[in-house]
Amino acid sequence: MTETRKFGENFYILDDGRVRQFLITGPEEALLIDTGFPDSGVYQAVKAITDKPVKVVLTHGDWDHTGGLGQFRECWLHPRDWHLVEGDVTLHPLQDGDVFTCGGYRLEVMEIPGHTYGSVAFFDRERKLLLPGDSVQKGGPIFMFGSHRNLDLYIESLRELRGLSGQVETILPCHHPCPIDFSYVEKNLEDAVALKKGALKGTKHPTLPCVSYRGRWTEFYYD
Ligand SMILES: [Zn+2]
Repeated sequence: MTETRKFGENFYILDDGRVRQFLITGPEEALLIDTGFPDSGVYQAVKAITDKPVKVVLTHGDWDHTGGLGQFRECWLHPRDWHLVEGDVTLHPLQDGDVFTCGGYRLEVMEIPGHTYGSVAFFDRERKLLLPGDSVQKGGPIFMFGSHRNLDLYIESLRELRGLSGQVETILPCHHPCPIDFSYVEKNLEDAVALKKGALKGTKHPTLPCVSYRGRWTEFYYD
């Protein structure tokens, strides 16, 4: 079941132990980043915090981020991930430079393709806060196997995020420890480059159709 904790002014973290979402509340509407698994109970958790209309934006189209969409009925998602969404949901596009404001937060969209082709990060410059979806994590595993992912693009995107050095103090990932500091952009990048070079040792995953590769800081599930 999803548990809620207040992280900052008008800012809540929802977490069911597998994946987390972020809720920002404003006087007229609320902004929800991601919707969890179908059984995460995100809709109920959001309704327990706010009775305002909720605008849903997604970091990417993976199942553990879109699973609760059915109850919200519409969302903003990068079009390159639209094919990943199931069910009767109205999709609106988002792209580099779009801005979503709510409750004193100003989230800029940064396209960071790789983990999925439509992955984005949300960046609040003033608060030095980065919501990278699954693309930056402490430890991982970061899922990089399957046809809707691309390691070259992922490396490029991490290099772009590295350009935010000095402008980000807090990273809120959707999996594993949270918050984490900016050094994990560099750590994930170092390990992704090693993976690309074939420098990491792999072990076949017991159940998933992938190989587990362990870098110095990060584990990747890769083909
Ligand atoms: Zn995920």
